[in-house]
Amino acid sequence: MSQRISVIIGDITQQNVDAIVNAANNSLLGGGGVDGAIHRAAGSQLLEECRQLKGCATGEAKITKGYNLPAKWVIHTVGPVWQGGRQGEDELLAQCYRSSLALVEQYQIQTIAFPAISTGAYGFPVDRAAQIAVTEIQQFLKENYTLEQVILVCFSQSAGDRYLTALKQIDKT
Ligand code: ADP
Repeated sequence: MSQRISVIIGDITQQNVDAIVNAANNSLLGGGGVDGAIHRAAGSQLLEECRQLKGCATGEAKITKGYNLPAKWVIHTVGPVWQGGRQGEDELLAQCYRSSLALVEQYQIQTIAFPAISTGAYGFPVDRAAQIAVTEIQQFLKENYTLEQVILVCFSQSAGDRYLTALKQIDKT
């Protein structure tokens, strides 16, 4: 198993990493789930900075400071809403990981934590989302040597089990 990828159960707002990724919505003005938790923990300055960004397209990513969070940066990405799988959802979710990771070098990010993007309110099937997440992260790590640690932060034991299964699976390929 790649020693640079790990799965944990926990609250992403409490991670001591250089950057945490937010599963945001197109407005970037906050919402429920992990987005709400990140805005609450970071404080109102995060919303102020997000207002300047004028939203974000699905699959893309924009970076802000982390304010009151332990993390220096928040990378806001917008996952696809699951609509049955034939609307390009897989590719859009893969793009979320690629766009987020594309910011790593420019901001000298050595440690990053991702939530299970799209698997909450956006309804993406968890096993499928997990497979896409680990595939994209592994692919990125093959060509990047500066990123030391990628943490997949799951909010429930069952999600954690499924992301860990996906991680073990990809290691055999
Ligand atoms: P989306 O709209 O992209 O589906 P959600 O926030 O609804 O985003 O859910 C994404 C995942 O984040 C879900 O698995 C949810 O359980 C999880 N989650 C919610 N709050 C937190 C948190 N504080 N830390 C980590 N994961 C969280």
